[in-house]
Amino acid sequence: MKHFPLFFDLHGQHCLVIGGGAVALRKASLLSKAGAVIHIVSPEINDDLAFIAEKSQGQVFRRAYEKADLADKTLVIAATNDRQVNEQVSKDAKANNQPVNVVDNPDLCSFILPSIIDRSPLTIAVSSGGASPVLARMIRSRIESMIPSAYGRLAEFVGLFRDKVKQELATEGERRRFWESALEGPIAEKVLTGKPEDASRVFEASLAKRHDNQPGEVCLVGAGPGDPDLLTFKALRLLQSADVILYDRLVSPAIVDLARRDAERVYVGKAKSDHAVPQQEINQLLIDYARKGLRVVRLKGGDPFIFGRGGEEIEELAELGIPFQVVPGITAASGCASYAGIPLTHRDYAQSVRFVTGHLKDDGDDLNWSELVGLQQTVVFYMGLSNLEKICAQLIAHGRAESTPVAIVQKGTTPEQRVIIGDLKSLPAEVAKQKIKAPTLIIVGEVVELHKKLSWFNTEVTP
Ligand code: SAH
Repeated sequence: MKHFPLFFDLHGQHCLVIGGGAVALRKASLLSKAGAVIHIVSPEINDDLAFIAEKSQGQVFRRAYEKADLADKTLVIAATNDRQVNEQVSKDAKANNQPVNVVDNPDLCSFILPSIIDRSPLTIAVSSGGASPVLARMIRSRIESMIPSAYGRLAEFVGLFRDKVKQELATEGERRRFWESALEGPIAEKVLTGKPEDASRVFEASLAKRHDNQPGEVCLVGAGPGDPDLLTFKALRLLQSADVILYDRLVSPAIVDLARRDAERVYVGKAKSDHAVPQQEINQLLIDYARKGLRVVRLKGGDPFIFGRGGEEIEELAELGIPFQVVPGITAASGCASYAGIPLTHRDYAQSVRFVTGHLKDDGDDLNWSELVGLQQTVVFYMGLSNLEKICAQLIAHGRAESTPVAIVQKGTTPEQRVIIGDLKSLPAEVAKQKIKAPTLIIVGEVVELHKKLSWFNTEVTP
């Protein structure tokens, strides 16, 4: 972080603006919104600017800048078109340890001014650290369109009740959960539609109700195959309001990073012994956290109900009456297929698709292979890398042609995605030669051929 963001209380503070034109005027207007006393120095000063300064009880000096002008100023902004003056102001202010901003010259600044969305008391500041003010402004307008102007009223309303909630609810977690539901539900709705009395009534009622010991909740959330952009809105919202996140190896670090900063993160992928935390232990952790009244998010790669043991994890919760919900995610087959340019079904080549586990017993007869060799279907194997040779051999032995196209997708949808294409006969040897890393997905069927036309990712094709 190049600049540390702060919100500065400038009410009644003396600030100096050097410059007398349109740019100085913009900066002075901002300072006046923050209640500062504004002093202006410049040989020429436009009338609006002088008016703002006088209205704020500041002084207007129609002359060149002097070092003495800096005396007792909390903050200094140089907005002249004279480079030498700007440099001098910056040097003098820095020597006095006074915060200084020189418009359009980040090198001379000790602070920079962000793009601002003003829904006072709610204030949002966006900065690109001086790298691209245009980008910062674009982001500002996007945020502006998402946050109705009435949000200022909502923030004010919350401000009125803050102390009361603090008195009534003992822990920070309780208070946060209370505010989250208040700000998403009918209370916010009433404030935003201009009915503050109704809002106060609902508010008091829900605060009273909150005293009952509420149980926590477990959300089984599908995190998708890797690319954080493939997360659902719901997954993101729950992730950002969770007290505890349990996640495993398949969930990208970038997704875990999206959780609230102070949420507890528990890795249940591989313990020190390099073994995954046993399923029963994970189930018990979910129960224990929820019984403490916490909001628990159990993040699972892909979709929780596709080879994700999601059913097992919620079974006990259901028996114990602990509230839970399941949020679907994009499963690896969908993610890998889309990013590798392989449609899983196609009117001409495959009318059905099967998701099959490639985690086989030694002899491999736990699968009904004769069902998997029919034409016009795509078969996707999860967890099949170590059995690739066996899978291909069994498909051939049960009647699928040796020339049937097969793709193996490594770490699909991530920057480490690799796709190797071959056929049932040639692919195992090729994959053995290359250093392929888990997780990988195996796609078998004529649709694999379509990657030639449809793929925009790097694809390696075996000869
Ligand atoms: N619930 C998950 C699957 C869990 S089983 C889902 O719906 O996707 C784990 C297997 O998923 C891995 O062995 C691998 O076959 C597959 N997998 C998960 N993420 C993957 C990815 N990004 N690329 C390729 N395969 C992936």
